[in-house]
Amino acid sequence: MKFTVVHYGDPILRQRGARVDTVDEALRGTIAGMFDTMYEAHGIGLAAQQVGLALQLAVIDVRGVKDRPSQLWISGQPADVDAFMPLVLINPVIRPVGDPVGGPEGCLSFPEIYGEVCRPAEVEVQALNDRNETFEFKAGGLLARAIQHEVDHLNGVLFIDRMDSKNRTEVKGEVESLQAETKKRLRRR
Ligand code: ZN
Repeated sequence: MKFTVVHYGDPILRQRGARVDTVDEALRGTIAGMFDTMYEAHGIGLAAQQVGLALQLAVIDVRGVKDRPSQLWISGQPADVDAFMPLVLINPVIRPVGDPVGGPEGCLSFPEIYGEVCRPAEVEVQALNDRNETFEFKAGGLLARAIQHEVDHLNGVLFIDRMDSKNRTEVKGEVESLQAETKKRLRRR
C-alpha cells in the first residue's frame, strides 16, 4: 500500500498529531504503507502528517545514506545503527542535547527544496514501537537530525521554520510557488 505524500500548502502539515492510543493491526498496516511510500520516494523519514494523518507516528530508516554517519547508544552503550533500522516512533518524547550543528536537509513534502538547518547534535528518545513496547535510546549524527525533523512534523513544525533568515530567504521563492500549486490543487479537489 502506498500513500500520496502531502506537499507544503496542505493545512494538515501544520496540525499537531493526536496521541496514538491503540497499537493494533490497523496501525501496523498504516506503518507498512508509510515505509513503502518513504522507500519509493528515497526518503529517510516520514511523519504521519505527510500521508494525511495527524498522529504521533513517524518512520525512519537511515541505512540508505552512506556519506553521512549516524550514532546510536542503548543504555549508554554504543550500538549498531543498521541493526536498529527500520525505526518506528509512536508517541515519541525527545530531549535534544549537545551543541547545535548545521547540516543540509530536505523533506518529501518540499520536493527539490534543500537548505541548511541547525539542530542539536544528539537527541535522547523515548517512544513506543509497533509492538506497543516502550523503548529508549540516544542518537547522534544523521539519525539525530532525522528524528528531530520527524518529531517536528508531529508537532506541525517544518524544516523551513528552523532555517535562519538567510537560508529561508534563499528558498522563499520555491517554497511560495510550491504552496500556491498545492493550494490550487486542493481547491480543484
Ligand atoms: Zn519532512
